Amino acid sequence: MEQTCIIVGASHAAAQLAPSLRQEGWQGRIVVIGDESCLPYHRPPLSKAYLRGDKQPDDLLIRVADIYARLNIEFRLGERVESIDRDDRTVTLRSGEKLAYDKLALCTGTRVRTVTLPGSTLSGIHYLRNIDDIDRIRADVRAGGRAVIVGGGYIGLETAAVLTKLGMRTTILEMAPRVLARVTAPQVSSFFERVHREEGVDIHTGIAVRGFDGAVRVEKVLCADGAFFPADLVIIGVGVMPNVELAARAGLATDNGILVDACGRTADPNIVAAGDCTMHPSPFYGYIRLESVPNATEQARSAAAALCGKEKPYAALPWFWSDQYDLKLQIAGLNQGHDQVVVRGAPEGGRSFCAFYLKGGQLIAADCVNRSQEFIFSKRLIAERIEVSAAQLANDALPLKSLLEGVKVAD
Ligand code: FAD
Repeated sequence: MEQTCIIVGASHAAAQLAPSLRQEGWQGRIVVIGDESCLPYHRPPLSKAYLRGDKQPDDLLIRVADIYARLNIEFRLGERVESIDRDDRTVTLRSGEKLAYDKLALCTGTRVRTVTLPGSTLSGIHYLRNIDDIDRIRADVRAGGRAVIVGGGYIGLETAAVLTKLGMRTTILEMAPRVLARVTAPQVSSFFERVHREEGVDIHTGIAVRGFDGAVRVEKVLCADGAFFPADLVIIGVGVMPNVELAARAGLATDNGILVDACGRTADPNIVAAGDCTMHPSPFYGYIRLESVPNATEQARSAAAALCGKEKPYAALPWFWSDQYDLKLQIAGLNQGHDQVVVRGAPEGGRSFCAFYLKGGQLIAADCVNRSQEFIFSKRLIAERIEVSAAQLANDALPLKSLLEGVKVAD
């Protein structure tokens, strides 16, 4: 009898996992069930080109419908999987309908962290995760209007860059002492704060939001120190949470993510998971959960192979990017646990530099701003564990490429 693989979540990971299943030889049905109403789409442009109005929904599709049709991949969109019965090998949809599976892939991603402060349900207050969120935000964008962004992470900064270009008077409120505090060195935070201020963004750090005020629509953001900021539009970008509840209710192990091995396998031989929702082993950093497109795509390939009985572990170095104004930030590796930061170039005045993170003298991560070549070489230096000194990394006259020639690999 024909076998069925069900993929939960019409996501980045699903858009890769389903075609990869065919490549790996899966002959049976593939059914992707997603609770959004559209085919899998690229999320990164949501806070960039799509918010700016430079792209239409169809431009965001990861693959067009024809490609899925050719590969005989079915979609059930606007449907949510509510539960999994691992003994019967069925999933139950919100409608109550039950669907049988032989293999199951969980690609449920993350959802935004919401706040429950006074006034937080006023209209004009938005989160940013889906196309629908951006459509609602765009309807509130007015040149000359005031936008307040709560949270100075990547999403907050990207959104501030676009709203400023769209003519809004934009303020960022960040609770930590600096923007990007969780993910970058102080030098990188200072650089982004300077550029945003030069572009006209008002940035306040070390400030806690305590609520929102307004009759029907939001009119003000209220802060714990008594300060307030007039607002016609508020965007809250304070992080995301992995969608693990479906897996947890089915008895699968979770810990800030669905626990999987390097091939995306859970402890259930019929169930894999891929993307933002997983906690997985990395050969570089131990167990990690990543929020990035490259991770979703690469892990999905491994998980598809695993469902077809093949061993293709996912072992790529994590990498990320962020676009703000004319800046392309590319990040290689994770800087957690670093004990030294080395800067190459001059972030204080210019718009191009690298920050390297070392741990015990070993390069573990790099933030590269408008330095694509250095990003590519940094990835290799980190992934191949090549020994480089702080002095070499800091020397802007010494091409990083030269450090890859005649390499000596660290233990
Ligand atoms: P997701 O894309 O999160 O999709 C999961 C899907 O599953 C969702 O549609 C969800 O509704 C659905 N779902 C969940 N549970 C169920 C269920 N029970 N039943 C049915 N459907 C379900 N990454 C980068 O690398 N670079 C960037 O520049 C970048 N920019 C970003 C900008 C924004 C605004 C956002 C929101 C994200 C950005 N990211 C970026 C992160 C990137 O988009 C994510 O890492 C990526 O989307 C993760 O893909 P995924 O496959 O894990 O799941």
